[in-house]
Parts: sequence; structure tokens; C-alpha cells
Amino acid sequence: MLIIDKEKCSGCGLCEASCAFAAIVVTDDLAVVNEACTLCGACVENCPDDALRIEVAERRIQEGLDEYAGILVFAEYRRGIVAPVSYELLGVGRRLADQRGVQLSVVIAGGDVSRHADSLIASGADIVYLAESPVLEQFHEDVHAAVLAQVIRAQKPEVVLAGATAMGRSVVPYVATVIDAGLTADCTRLEIRESDGMLLQTRPAFGGNIMATIECPHTRPQMATVRPKVMAPAQPDPSRSGSIIRLELAEEILQSRVEVLESVHNTEDQVNIQEMETLVAGGRGLDSEKGFALIRELADELGGAVAASRAAVDSGWIPYPHQVGQTGKTVAPKLYIACGISGAVQHAVGMQSAETIVAINRDQNAPIFNIATYGVVGDLYEVIPELIKRLREVKK
Ligand SMILES: Cc1cc2nc3c(=O)[nH]c(=O)nc-3n(C[C@H](O)[C@H](O)[C@H](O)COP(=O)(O)OP(=O)(O)OC[C@H]3O[C@@H](n4cnc5c(N)ncnc54)[C@H](O)[C@@H]3O)c2cc1C
Repeated sequence: MLIIDKEKCSGCGLCEASCAFAAIVVTDDLAVVNEACTLCGACVENCPDDALRIEVAERRIQEGLDEYAGILVFAEYRRGIVAPVSYELLGVGRRLADQRGVQLSVVIAGGDVSRHADSLIASGADIVYLAESPVLEQFHEDVHAAVLAQVIRAQKPEVVLAGATAMGRSVVPYVATVIDAGLTADCTRLEIRESDGMLLQTRPAFGGNIMATIECPHTRPQMATVRPKVMAPAQPDPSRSGSIIRLELAEEILQSRVEVLESVHNTEDQVNIQEMETLVAGGRGLDSEKGFALIRELADELGGAVAASRAAVDSGWIPYPHQVGQTGKTVAPKLYIACGISGAVQHAVGMQSAETIVAINRDQNAPIFNIATYGVVGDLYEVIPELIKRLREVKK
């Protein structure tokens, strides 16, 4: 943090003038720092009174890093279903475990989860930890976090993976704080560095303009959340064998500080675009909410669902669950038709893994054409009706 020595500060204002973030203001002849400070150090260099200094918190270096081994996946289970991201985590977890020559385990918590153990083993797990209790049927982040923390403390895995989903994003930072470990959120690539076995965790940074690779050299486990639909699930192999271990859960672990008064399901938009094989997406080029009627017509004709760019969502033309991209969902359908979408990097990161991308845009220089498999340069209000007509003819 930035420390201001009140005795030395003369209130000259040179620090305020040198700050590019308006994070330091001289009030009553004394420099005062606010939360915009990025610790860039420009004010420290420019202070003629030597009144400013940056204090860096002491880096914690954990003892006994070598005691940690194995990869642990936190499986996501809600209302009787194991979320698909859990199988994607097992896919990448299996690859990492094989590279490290260690075991892949998975912890699953819920009211009745034992029936899913075999499919988790078939999908790559060597060990399944079952946390079963009626209390776990309802999601409580503190209880689920306590279960995961219990497994981590007992098993000491070197890597813990969870989905970058609403559940993973609430449980895993909780656990990382409790066990004092590092966490990289929203990873899109995970690799093991051969020379020292370090987990290299790659994720978009600075608005998606660069990919940052993060490592956690001083603490264990190395924890990462992974975006759904970015990693491929392992092909299930029913002949695989593994161990199933039922966890003993102490009474205090199952005590939540949260009382759930009511669970309300969002019935407005049931379609999960991440599960669809065909998506027809609309962007600002639709020009109005009405354009989505045409997009929906094409999607219906193809048996697909409707997706959107953030510009369309921000305009209020379609609700947020349809948004694809960095701050929306990551999708990997067989077919993605982008209509009136420019292809900004923040949109592209959410859909570039689609098997086939068709772009319809009237600007032949639109960046979407750089990632499209097929491109149609033209007005979407002319192209889409033609496409629908042709599809109907072919179906006949
Ligand atoms: C931190 C951050 C996060 C973001 N997250 C996301 C995200 O998750 N998802 C996302 O999508 N964006 C995201 N954005 C916004 C992103 O940068 C773009 O602004 C957005 O994707 C643009 O949406 P668009 O392509 O629909 O609109 P535009 O960029 O305005 O493109 C509209 C396109 O439509 C074409 N067009 C216009 N009329 C027609 C017509 N009649 N027929 C055919 N083509 C036509 C135009 O040529 C143009 O290429 C984010 C931005 C930031 C800074």
C-alpha cells in the first residue's frame, strides 16, 4: 500500500500532478490517497520531501510444498444433475494427472450423489469422494466450501479445479481464502510445465486483449476455475475402475450461517445456449429488438437456439442469459451463425471454438470474417429470409 508520512509531507502537490489515475489529492496541505491507486509508484519518484513510500505485503512462502500431490476436481451437482462442466474438468484433469503421473480425484456433494460415482470414474476419475447428506441437497456456499476444504486438508492435492460457474465462483474463492492458497479464475487453458511440474494457468486479461499465464509457485494447492465449454470432456470409458470413498462429515461442517427462505427458478428463459448444437446469434446490426424475430425464425428452422452479442443485450433487445463472450457464456456448438455481429475480441473468445462459424455482415472488413468458416457479405434482412426460404425448400 501507499504510505504517506504526514510529518514529511509539505503539501506541494507534485504527487497529485504526477498521478495518472487521480488517486492522490492534496487536501489541507496533506496528500491523501484514494482507492484508485494502482501502486504505480509515479508519486513516490516525484515527491521532493521523501514523504511517500510503497509497502509491499510480505510474500507468504508455504512450507512442505512437496507433500502435495494429485489433481482434485470439485464436481458441480444441482437438483439431481451433475453439471456438464464437471466432466470437462475431468477431461483436462485426466490429462494433467497423466502428465504428472498422479491420481485424479473428484469430490461431489449432495443429497443423493452415490449413483453418479460410476460415471465420474468412467470419465477419468481414479477416486470419487462422496459427501452425502440431506443438508447438501440445498446449495449453501459455506457448507459446500467446508466440505471441499476438508478434502483438500486431508488429501493435499497439488491442483484443485472447479467450474467458473455461479457455484464454482462462490465456493472456490471461499475455500482459497480459508486454506490461504492462490486462485486463478476463469482459465481457458491449463498446462503443466515439464521442467518443474508447475501448473500454467492461462486466462484473458485486460478486457480480453491479452492472454495472461499465471503460476502459483509459493503455495499449494494451485487452484483454478475453468470456463464451461472451453475444455473437452473425456470420452467415457465404462471399463475404467476407481475407488469410491464416503466422507465422514462432522456436524459443524454441515452448519450453514445462511438460511434459504425460498428458491425461485428462472422460468423466463429455460434454454441454456451452452447445451445447444446450433446457435443463431444477433448483434447490433439487427438494429432493433424486432430483428430477433427473424433470428428466432432461422434458429427454429435449424432446431437451434438464439444467442446474442453484448451490444444486443445492453440495448435491451434480448435477456442476458443469451449473451456470448467474455462477460457472457462460452459456447462451442456445431454451428454458430453470427448475424450483424462485428466479431470484437470479447465476443470471439466466447464462440471461436464452434465447429462451423457462418458470418453474415454487410461490412466485408468486419473482423468476424477472420474467424468465420463461411462468410456472407450482405444485408442480414435480405440474406436471412433467403436462407430460411432455401431451408424450407430443401426440407420439402
Ligand atoms: C470488458 C468487456 C467485456 C465485454 N464482453 C462482451 C461479451 O461478453 N460479449 C460481447 O458480445 N461483447 C462484449 N463486449 C463488447 C465488445 O467489445 C463489442 O462492443 C460487442 O461485441 C459489439 O457487439 P456487436 O458486434 O453486436 O456490435 P458492433 O460492433 O456494433 O457490430 C455490428 C455489426 O453489424 C454489422 N451490420 C450492421 N447492420 C447490418 C445489416 N443490416 N446486415 C448485416 N450486417 C450489419 C456491422 O457491419 C457491424 O459489423 C465487451 C467489452 C468489454 C470492454
